[in-house]
Amino acid sequence: MSISTLARSIAESPTLRLNEEARLLREKGLPVTHLGAGEPKNKTPIAAILSSAAKLVNGDVKYVPTDGIPSLKKAIIRYTEENYGRAVPPENVIVSSGAKQAVYNVLFSILNPQDEVIIPAPYWVSYPEMVKMVYGVPITVVPEDGGYHPRMADIQRAVSPATKAIIINSPNNPSGVMYSEAFVAEIVEFCERKGIYLITDDIYHKLVFDGKRAPSAYAHTGRDVDESRVIVINGISKLYGMTGFRIGWTIAGRKLVEVMTNVQAQTTSCASLVMQAGAEGALTGLQSTVEGLRLTIENNRDVALQELHSFTGVKCVKPDGTFYCFPDFRAYYKDSVALSDFLLKKALVVTVPGREFGMEGHLRLSYAGSIKDITEGIARIKWALDPNSPNEIYIGDRRMVRDWL
Ligand code: PMP
Repeated sequence: MSISTLARSIAESPTLRLNEEARLLREKGLPVTHLGAGEPKNKTPIAAILSSAAKLVNGDVKYVPTDGIPSLKKAIIRYTEENYGRAVPPENVIVSSGAKQAVYNVLFSILNPQDEVIIPAPYWVSYPEMVKMVYGVPITVVPEDGGYHPRMADIQRAVSPATKAIIINSPNNPSGVMYSEAFVAEIVEFCERKGIYLITDDIYHKLVFDGKRAPSAYAHTGRDVDESRVIVINGISKLYGMTGFRIGWTIAGRKLVEVMTNVQAQTTSCASLVMQAGAEGALTGLQSTVEGLRLTIENNRDVALQELHSFTGVKCVKPDGTFYCFPDFRAYYKDSVALSDFLLKKALVVTVPGREFGMEGHLRLSYAGSIKDITEGIARIKWALDPNSPNEIYIGDRRMVRDWL
């Protein structure tokens, strides 16, 4: 079989692979605890269900405009005005099948082969692979101070004449860290001055804790969206826990949106009408779902941190948002892939290795699940790694004895 060199070089999605491994173990009847999930457990908001169902009942489900149905674009425009303080015309908005496709379409539309894209670590696993998929070169930048917040000095050092874009994601998957207002101001100013695109993946921007608010890149540029280098990506997956609807969007200059529309027209034609209607329902319906979800997850974060602090050697920065934390396990294990495999085999806990996010020695743990998942999952990790913990544990109804420490 002949497969292209490029396609062969693309890594599989580690999170989707782990979901599959966990599913197979569960099918065998093993009590797996999943701390790898990238989605909350809530049910779809009723306004979204009704809005999608109305399209299905009507039976008129056909192709729709490539850049999104006008009523959803109107809802996105209102959302942008309310949350970013920017009024944008519909020509600056394009709806895609998930924020993932939105990021890919942006990269496809702006990069020439060998153009470089700067990606501060830790980063969402898909960015470097997507850059490679359009023959670009991902330049990952690890903060030299050993922290999780990017530093302008490190980024500036990575800039070259081939730099076309920088991708930031705040609050951040996997660390949960939210980038400071000062940093956002500085990077916006830098990108506008240098003519470098700043792609801000804001998919978690409302899942923020402790009364904080995510800084908006638009607040730091006086330029009109058509003149600005800022590109904003967002979607309904995390905000409303509507991952299966596959709706995301991009706000960008109209010329770029036009090109992205052509790219999308030749690849997917349009996002499904039924799902776009669901997204519209969510955005225009009661917003108490968002606050309810946020409060549940904030409480989950507190429980996860409390459990993690009972480990002797594990360090974990307090997440400002998202539903992930990114503890440093180097005191126990240097190789995060080996650690994650070990924890799945010995303790039946799914975690995602930090190496996938550009930082070895860490694990990404999700607290999007139930309190029971969180406490049980972390207790199992502790049992497997910490010699100070009792060497017996019940996993499901099985008594397990630790014989490796
Ligand atoms: N960006 C980030 C940082 C994410 O974590 C995810 C989902 N894991 C996405 C984008 C993709 O979102 P969507 O479901 O809208 O494609």
